[in-house]
Amino acid sequence: MATLKAPIEDIKYLTNEFLDTSELSNIPMFSDMTVELTEAIFEEAGKISESLLFPLNRTGDEQGCTYHDGTVTTPDGFNQAYQEMTAAGWGNLICKPEYGGQGLPHYIANAVDEILVSSNMSFTMYMGLTIGAYNAIDQFACDELKEKFLSNMVSGKWSGTMCLTEPQCGTDLGLIRTKAVPQNGGSYNISGSKIFITAGEHNLTENILHLVLARTPGAPEGIKGISLFLVPKINVNDDGTLGEANGVFCSGIEHKMGINASSTCSMEFESSNGFLVGDLNKGMKAMFIMMNSARLHVGIQGLALAQASYCSAKNYAKERIQGRALTGPKYIDQAADPLIVQPDVRRMLMTMKAYTEGARALSIWLSYKLDVSHNADNKQHRQDADELVSLLTPIFKSFLTDIGETVTSLGIQIYGGHGYIRENGMEQYLRDARISKIYEGANGIQALDLVGRKLPKHMGKYLRHFFHPLSEFLEKNSGDEAISAYIQPLEKSFSRLQQATLFIAQKGLSHPEEAGAAASDYLNMFGLVAIGYMWAKMADQATHRKDKMTDEFYDAKLKTGLFYMQRILPQTGSLLSSIMSGCENTMSLNEEQF
Ligand SMILES: Cc1cc2nc3c(=O)[nH]c(=O)nc-3n(C[C@H](O)[C@H](O)[C@H](O)COP(=O)(O)OP(=O)(O)OC[C@H]3O[C@@H](n4cnc5c(N)ncnc54)[C@H](O)[C@@H]3O)c2cc1C
Repeated sequence: MATLKAPIEDIKYLTNEFLDTSELSNIPMFSDMTVELTEAIFEEAGKISESLLFPLNRTGDEQGCTYHDGTVTTPDGFNQAYQEMTAAGWGNLICKPEYGGQGLPHYIANAVDEILVSSNMSFTMYMGLTIGAYNAIDQFACDELKEKFLSNMVSGKWSGTMCLTEPQCGTDLGLIRTKAVPQNGGSYNISGSKIFITAGEHNLTENILHLVLARTPGAPEGIKGISLFLVPKINVNDDGTLGEANGVFCSGIEHKMGINASSTCSMEFESSNGFLVGDLNKGMKAMFIMMNSARLHVGIQGLALAQASYCSAKNYAKERIQGRALTGPKYIDQAADPLIVQPDVRRMLMTMKAYTEGARALSIWLSYKLDVSHNADNKQHRQDADELVSLLTPIFKSFLTDIGETVTSLGIQIYGGHGYIRENGMEQYLRDARISKIYEGANGIQALDLVGRKLPKHMGKYLRHFFHPLSEFLEKNSGDEAISAYIQPLEKSFSRLQQATLFIAQKGLSHPEEAGAAASDYLNMFGLVAIGYMWAKMADQATHRKDKMTDEFYDAKLKTGLFYMQRILPQTGSLLSSIMSGCENTMSLNEEQF
């Protein structure tokens, strides 16, 4: 059976020691985050995820959601767990206190997010989509809408969705056909069909607030003519009570490869009342806000499932006896040695551990940069942090979800045939993880966003927010013998990343397919270097500041970091060769030759 233990010790280390939060320490929301308080939050999240959500993960997968005549029922136990989770405030950690939220920093909330998702990804999607919708309403809606809807979203009484996808329109949102016609009173009459809508219908809340992309009559073609509307499943009266049904129907649910307990719905809007969120024809701007926070959340899904898979795999490798160590029997009193003595099993476990802990460090570090972008006193610091987060968001979403797939697949491999069969729960992690590479912008689209929008932005200004601190870190530590095993490989890979950046910037200008064909390799290279940077920082701390954690903990950090530097980071070499080979090898077949 899969087992789960939340990585509390590592999270405590990252939030209390790895991260330097001094810039925001004069702000109460951050100064309140004492070591005692944050540790209590993480430990409580660990308990609730292990005792409440994890037991529902397997049963939820097997039972799935059921559809009957427009209604959707979530698996047994989900409703009760949802009420418990929302009553305890786990769904509103980052929401503003004025709406009843807890106003916690992102670096704390996202660490909790990993803990909860690792125990039951399907379950957490119901709360996650509400946060995405909350962010868009909070940032773009008028005060009247905020007052009417936000506090019930924050309490978890009402949930939220994002309704973008239509049968003819997935990646290319310019093809949206859903219509929004102005009607008396300032609202809009919404009609159209949406598909694949997560949490579009379910039995957890009394109302569901759909954020719907639609086109008004005479709006410009393509994405320039799309607006965002809030469409409640049930109309809400001026006094906040529920009114009549609002013409929103679920016409069916998808039967999927994974996240079976998360409802994925086809939705029909039939003359539903909708309220404009943000400016007319500027729906994509508001949607990007929603998608940016959602993209970080999706990256964390990759990390969380990697963690869950690693947790079971390491235990299994210690228990399962099979064959003997290459150097001779290690456990002579047993019929065979445990799998963990085998170098190839070690290779898989080290890969899982090095990716997972490196990705966690990146997650907490980037989440803190998001906090700086919202809260720093200094305007320039806020803007710099915002640009850094913008640059790294596509990398985080894509690279961490790739890690999710790689690590959950390795988890199956460590279990052998016992991982491939359903009984042990390892294959569910891979099935659940697979969608994270597709939704919220497929990973290939993230790569295009990186090379097409983020790199050229202000002549490489966004890029400098990452390259400059990394260069300074390398310069500062280049003479430090104690950590040269970490610094030198990082220097080499960073230099490759700079070479690739120059190549894409020069070639991409004259020939967009050069940039397009190199984009995914470039993003992966960037992800490898970003996580390498995190490992080098951790190695620096573990070597020079062995003060808070146990020696054993730092020793494991140093050894795992070394594995990353010597066995994973060098992949930047082959990625550079692929990038520099140009687009001709990719584009030269004519379509008939496929
Ligand atoms: C379980 C699940 C939950 C979902 N939840 C939601 C939700 O809550 N709300 C919502 O609105 N949607 C949701 N979706 C839809 C999801 O966001 C889309 O499936 C996704 O955006 C891709 O669109 P598509 O499936 O139409 O693929 P297409 O757009 O047809 O693309 C197919 C593939 O082609 C590639 N591709 C496409 N265009 C380009 C390009 N220009 N350049 C390079 N490569 C390209 C990509 O690799 C992509 O994977 C969900 C989907 C699933 C399966």
